[in-house]
Amino acid sequence: MNNLLERIEQVREKIKKSAAKGGNSPEQIKLVVVTKTVSADVISQVIQYGIQDIGENRVQDFLKKHASINEKVNWHIIGHLQSNKVKYLTNKVSLIHSLDRESLANELNKQGKLFNYKFNCLIQVNVSGEISKFGMSPKNVEGFLVKLSRMEHINVLGLMTMAPFEDDPEDTRHVFEGLRNLKYKLDTLNIPGIELKYLSMGMSNDYQVALEEGSNMVRIGSEIFGHI
Ligand SMILES: *Cc1c(COP(=O)(O)O)cnc(C)c1O
Repeated sequence: MNNLLERIEQVREKIKKSAAKGGNSPEQIKLVVVTKTVSADVISQVIQYGIQDIGENRVQDFLKKHASINEKVNWHIIGHLQSNKVKYLTNKVSLIHSLDRESLANELNKQGKLFNYKFNCLIQVNVSGEISKFGMSPKNVEGFLVKLSRMEHINVLGLMTMAPFEDDPEDTRHVFEGLRNLKYKLDTLNIPGIELKYLSMGMSNDYQVALEEGSNMVRIGSEIFGHI
């Protein structure tokens, strides 16, 4: 069997095992295959194997690959997004995982209005507070959502976080638990127009733990492609 297909099947198998512990059926889990340094040819291959969601973290790479791939697929922007790059994304991106500040929201809403386009977004939250300079502090998410609920060209679909790399993935559990609890708390506020459908959490090193903590969207690169 083809190696690439085999690795995708292995990931799906592991998703199946861990999803139930997080209260989800395997069909509810979206597998976003992260293709940073992977060529367009290999991405086409992966799409042929049934993958429907591709994640890129740099807008420039995304645009090149988007232009050279004809297959219909959902494109995800998962990395830090600069406001001046937003204008290139209209009509091309299915989900932005890294909405983490008001200035970016304003720009998305402005460009969306210009092109009559609605951006689907997740709020990136910096749960542990020290790992990354990106992501909003959990205590600011509520106020941000209230503002976003009034922006016509932004559709908030959930929350995203990244855990620090740990040799023992068990050590990341508190981060994912933290995001899930934040979602529960925000759900009780019933902010108009906001439905937090997705928890995007888990990468190659830690997705099984993330799934056990309720993730329903995992972003996997190196476990499928080797080091990327
Ligand atoms: C690179 C990247 C991933 C995938 O990481 P792997 O460890 O290769 O699975 C997921 N999410 C984000 C935001 C990334 O930048």
